[in-house]
Amino acid sequence: MIHSFSPTREAGLAALTTFIPEAGRRYAQSRNHDLGPDARSNVSMLSPYLRHRLITEREVVDAVLARHTVASAEKFVQEVFWRTYWKGWLELRPAVWRRYRHDVAALLDQRDTAEWRDDLAAALAGNTGIDCFDAWIAELATEGYLHNHARMWFASIWIFTLRLPWQLGADLFYRQLIDGDAASNTLSWRWVAGLQTPGKTYLATAHNIATYTEGRFSPHGLATHAEALSEERLPDPAPLVEVPALPQGRAGLLVHDDDLHLESLHFPGVDIACVSGASAVAARSVLPLPSLVEDFTRAAVSDGISRAAQNLANSSQPLASETLSGLNADAVERWAGAHNLTTIVTAHAPVGPVQEALLGMAAQLACRGITVATARRDWDSLAWPHARRGFFPFRERIPKLLAQQQIG
Ligand SMILES: Cc1cc2nc3c(=O)[nH]c(=O)nc-3n(C[C@H](O)[C@H](O)[C@H](O)COP(=O)(O)OP(=O)(O)OC[C@H]3O[C@@H](n4cnc5c(N)ncnc54)[C@H](O)[C@@H]3O)c2cc1C
Repeated sequence: MIHSFSPTREAGLAALTTFIPEAGRRYAQSRNHDLGPDARSNVSMLSPYLRHRLITEREVVDAVLARHTVASAEKFVQEVFWRTYWKGWLELRPAVWRRYRHDVAALLDQRDTAEWRDDLAAALAGNTGIDCFDAWIAELATEGYLHNHARMWFASIWIFTLRLPWQLGADLFYRQLIDGDAASNTLSWRWVAGLQTPGKTYLATAHNIATYTEGRFSPHGLATHAEALSEERLPDPAPLVEVPALPQGRAGLLVHDDDLHLESLHFPGVDIACVSGASAVAARSVLPLPSLVEDFTRAAVSDGISRAAQNLANSSQPLASETLSGLNADAVERWAGAHNLTTIVTAHAPVGPVQEALLGMAAQLACRGITVATARRDWDSLAWPHARRGFFPFRERIPKLLAQQQIG
């Protein structure tokens, strides 16, 4: 059965409401079990909504803590903070993203002659003979979603059993997951490969897979040893870049894939005159994306644009809104020209294709007399500086972060 994710905030809120009763101890006890696409009530399936901020981390954590005690919802809240942590970690080390993207391009150039060519083709066709892996390839294509444990097993089998380059596996996930996210995806693949926590790998075993899929799979021939991959030393983390104060006065609001709840983001001193937006989803990979992923994301961006136009209006009329042909300087300049705008405001995008598009666009538009300014959520500004080291010191800060009133 295909679980269909509806690309709206309304659907995200409905999924949250349905899941809240499960988010306490039941989640902590059962979340590692993957009983297949027809039985997913032990996990929230909120990631497509959280990843695009159709619903925010703050809303999810608040709603769960309104129903459960801090102790019983601790595991679920920590999982939500994994997303925040990965984003912060990558934001402080953008070179890791650039290196990954460079490696993917170089590997794709070699793929017709590389020694792993046939193994890659068999993996992508779901033709490895490893029952679980072949099933997950199909599930990824039809659902655009895999359970977290299946993602870990899949990545481990890809790297250590099939001995394929981890970067191509990460690119496959990034293209095919509706929740495809630069930070969570790239850094989770690095974690499995033993690059993220140097030397510490994740080995998928037949016993663990059989146990947590409750006998749905009994894979044969899995690697019995996972030797960590190595890489050139990473640059030290940089301090979190300060976001300059917003220009005051009239501006247009630009909506993009990475934050689709602009009603809850503050633009102090800015008088928003109109709203537009576009998706950069196709820039996730040089390879084409499945329509499942493109359609979800583009429709989610449209939902974000129309809600912003309705809810930001300070009059009874909604603001004028439109979907642009792309997240690029030419499209934004045409829109700005039509509305006589010299300032565009938008949500800060974390490291990834949207950030790259915004930075490129801002540089080009500056030469054409248009300023692009961003606002970053307190949630990110307060949490990200603590993602300099591993998750465990970050985790210690969660209670303090939650106590900070303004975080949102
Ligand atoms: C190899 C690999 C690749 C991944 N790629 C992505 C990706 O591209 N996009 C993505 O959103 N997540 C990714 N994840 C993280 C995680 O698997 C998904 O966020 C989670 O499975 C989503 O399902 P859920 O909403 O039902 O999670 P739940 O278990 O219900 O968790 C609630 C929320 O917590 C967050 N969360 C839970 N586990 C993680 C985690 N390990 N890392 C980060 N956040 C987490 C998500 O926002 C999730 O919606 C990846 C994990 C692995 C191992």
